[in-house]
Amino acid sequence: MRLVTEKESTYVGRCIYCGTTQEKLTEEHISPYGLNGCMTLLDASCLDCNKKITKVE
Ligand SMILES: [Zn+2]
Repeated sequence: MRLVTEKESTYVGRCIYCGTTQEKLTEEHISPYGLNGCMTLLDASCLDCNKKITKVE
């Protein structure tokens, strides 16, 4: 297992929440628990889900 210790970017290409590939997708930033670092998922959430997640946070 490789530790994520620096910023990384991963291209996803579909919404990680609802799975759509149709909507315009946006970046998603995640910070894995127990790991120092931030991961950027490119094109990983649609605008609808992004709004919902932003509201919750
Ligand atoms: Zn979605």
